[in-house]
Amino acid sequence: MVDSYTIGDLIKKGVEILEAGEYNNPLLESQLLLCHVHNVDKIYTYTHKDRLVDSQSVDKFLKLINKRKSGYPIQYILGKQEFMGLDFHVREGVLIPRPDTEILVEYIIDLVKGEYFNEKESIKIIDIGTGSGAITLSLAHYLENAHVYSIDISPTALEVARENAKRLGLESRVTFIEGDVLSPLEGLNLYNSIDIIVSNPPYIPTKDIQELQREVAEHEPKMALDGGEDGLDFYRRIVREGVKYLTDGGVLAFEIGYDQGKAVKELMLRDRGTGTMSHHNPFKDIKIIKDLAGHDRVVIGRVGRG
Ligand code: GLN
Repeated sequence: MVDSYTIGDLIKKGVEILEAGEYNNPLLESQLLLCHVHNVDKIYTYTHKDRLVDSQSVDKFLKLINKRKSGYPIQYILGKQEFMGLDFHVREGVLIPRPDTEILVEYIIDLVKGEYFNEKESIKIIDIGTGSGAITLSLAHYLENAHVYSIDISPTALEVARENAKRLGLESRVTFIEGDVLSPLEGLNLYNSIDIIVSNPPYIPTKDIQELQREVAEHEPKMALDGGEDGLDFYRRIVREGVKYLTDGGVLAFEIGYDQGKAVKELMLRDRGTGTMSHHNPFKDIKIIKDLAGHDRVVIGRVGRG
């Protein structure tokens, strides 16, 4: 039988086990897992660090610490990830929201509040590949005049996104639709009516997936990562199929991989869509925006029908 541990001892023990792995923050993760098992907040672990932990909780904690050490994402253990200041529930089968994606969301919020859209009473947005709902729901939360059409091909993702919408009180602001890229919108009569199409599509080239961090490659859904042979499959489809939905001046905004800025920009310049006005619909004002690490992270352009 395990010895008796105090909260403080157990957190230390967790740190020792995790330190043998390659994780960024063993102390924080050990604290978070203890809070999870014990159902307490972090402050409690400081104010009650000499309290003994019952043996069942000790067993449970050590099991989770070892699971984490084996490379299982902590967010799937805790069942949540913070994004744009909001708590998103996540579970296996759904991509974990990344801080990098906040750059895309912040940029769109600034656009809507700024010169492009500030006089519009309502804004219509399409989010392709919603996953847990991170982009969709943070836009709906911060932009009170927005309605989001939120599409995903994965029923698991949509289930999680719907739960998150409900918890965040945003259900009435989002229309969730199951399907492949823009195809489920055919027939809904949304042509020339959408202000912004946003997407963080799968963009990892198929052959590179195995080279991602182990916790990503082994545990997160391939479907949310695999962008085809050169990683650009979804950008091609969205550029081609998306133009006809956008208003004149409408915005297309993508998250991209660190080395895809130029390629996606060129796609947007070259590929003018297949809508009825296809040959008059080039994107203009195309910008590549960098993340805090200095890598290309977002590509954004507007439809100029002129
Ligand atoms: N940013 C993710 C990663 O590098 C990839 C997400 C995506 O393909 N959209 O793990």
